[in-house]
Amino acid sequence: MRIARFSLDGTVGFGVVEGDATTEGGPVLDIIKGHPFADFERSGQKLPLSKVRLLPPVLPNKVVAVGRNYAEHARELGHEVPETPVLFFKPSTSVVGPGDPVVYPAFSSELHHEAELAVVIGRLCKDVPRERVKDVVLGYTCANDVTARDVQRAENQWARSKGFDSSCPLGPWTETELDPSDLALMCTVNGEQRQLGRTSEMVRSIEDLVVLVSEAMTLLPGDVILTGTPAGVGPLNVGDEVAVTIEGIGTLTNKVIKRD
Ligand code: MG
Repeated sequence: MRIARFSLDGTVGFGVVEGDATTEGGPVLDIIKGHPFADFERSGQKLPLSKVRLLPPVLPNKVVAVGRNYAEHARELGHEVPETPVLFFKPSTSVVGPGDPVVYPAFSSELHHEAELAVVIGRLCKDVPRERVKDVVLGYTCANDVTARDVQRAENQWARSKGFDSSCPLGPWTETELDPSDLALMCTVNGEQRQLGRTSEMVRSIEDLVVLVSEAMTLLPGDVILTGTPAGVGPLNVGDEVAVTIEGIGTLTNKVIKRD
């Protein structure tokens, strides 16, 4: 099931996406009564997807990300895969939705894309045992861990290089029925392929990451874990259209702009 968050005429809600581009009349949203973090009903009230604005599929309290979780990517930046995973935060204010602009930060001149599978947490949890990980995950979405690479190299902490406003596009929706263990993920810039990998290449699996993160901190419904990026990261320029596509989920597209 694909659960989207949307706005229409000033109202914000969740809906289940039915159909796709090949469906006659296009895909529709069946509006949910309540929210997807508890048992919910579909209202049966359907809106054409083309009529609503899709928002980030969740509003995370926190986005926890892991660095260097694909060996090829670690190597391309001149690093080894660390023995202890490198975790960092992207603040809630970094999150934007599908179609929203990524604003090129004034303090950088080397912005990079990083296509990543995002895990959406569905319930409050702490110290999650490996066998319970599937119970605390609502589903999966596409993410772009947009990074000011020059600033990341220059500073020990990554708060500025990976935490600026609009550095965490998420979407287009949360897919709740998906085996995430071996999915193709791809990043294109202006239609040209830049990154292509499979989630099976992760050094630490989704189970490993949920266990590791929840050992340290309570996860809340709507929190997001970014699982690292495959090789092929590269520059984004003002005017570029960057798209992250993950098999079984869909495509998250954002345009890079400069704020005057
Ligand atoms: Mg990353």
